[in-house]
Amino acid sequence: MQRTMNKFLIEKGLLELTRANESGFEQQEPIKTKENLTIQLLDTGVLVVEPDTPNDSDLIISSGVHGNETAPIEMVDELVKKIINGSLKVRARTLFIIGNAVAMNQSERFVIENMNRLFNGKHQGKDHHEAERAKKLENYVTDFFNKRSDARRFHYDLHTAIRGSKYKKFAIYPFPDGRDWDKHQLEFFLASGVNTVLLGHQPSGTFSYFSSHQFSAHAFTVELGKVKPFGENNMQEFSAMMQNLERLIQGETIPTQPFNNSDFNLFQVKDELVKQSDNFKLNIADDVENFTDFEEGFVLTEDIDGGYTVQKTGEAIVFPNAKIPNGQRAGLVVEKTQL
Ligand SMILES: [Zn+2]
Repeated sequence: MQRTMNKFLIEKGLLELTRANESGFEQQEPIKTKENLTIQLLDTGVLVVEPDTPNDSDLIISSGVHGNETAPIEMVDELVKKIINGSLKVRARTLFIIGNAVAMNQSERFVIENMNRLFNGKHQGKDHHEAERAKKLENYVTDFFNKRSDARRFHYDLHTAIRGSKYKKFAIYPFPDGRDWDKHQLEFFLASGVNTVLLGHQPSGTFSYFSSHQFSAHAFTVELGKVKPFGENNMQEFSAMMQNLERLIQGETIPTQPFNNSDFNLFQVKDELVKQSDNFKLNIADDVENFTDFEEGFVLTEDIDGGYTVQKTGEAIVFPNAKIPNGQRAGLVVEKTQL
């Protein structure tokens, strides 16, 4: 059985292996390569690669936390293939993740519940598929980061969005728990084709916040464009990010330019739109793009509490969703900011 999994990985790659084993499997025997790497399948969609003499970076590249977000899954698959065939050298310890194989096989975002709300312990008390997988992924991340205490820690959780966005690619910088926003990381994103960043305003259940909060990792949710089925992604659109991820894996310096606010669209959260009652109305089209902005005085929502009227021209909306139960968040009002 063990030999079969490793053989399957080597012959067909991580994506095909994960697709064929959605419900998980036991940790497999490590594979030693002639490039002095140890490659080990820890579970379905979870692969750790460790060089005999690693540099000081521990890197997590995760994908498929939402099962239908195929481009990041294809990116992870490609990186792993290049490592296995020896064309990509490895200097950083790297953990690769395809998050939700069951949802992936159904071409769905999730089966029971959005997994990216279930990290940082928010899976507790829930026994469905996504909650169990979120708990397991937390454990793999914990084991990975805890193996070294002195390494620089990075976690890029790659996504594509259902909704269009005024800024096609953007990163969500998790709430830093009092630490400074890291401008070098923003420089990395700029060099990787991502110049829009939403600064997190509070703790959350996202995978990236888990790594940031628990391990002080430089962790981000990265939205790379629009959701498409497998095979329909134009991988050229992701080439800048791919190239820089390869550089991180190889331990190469990434050419960046010094941080300058004018190179970025930085947004902070101004308000949360909470649906208070059945009278709630969100006065925008269903397909409005993320970061669409409004004029002062525009009545964005109506509700029993008076709703939300735009206070200043330029306020924008992200993640609008009116089809939610009362008491839940129907979107975020954001405004431009500088660091
Ligand atoms: Zn996503």
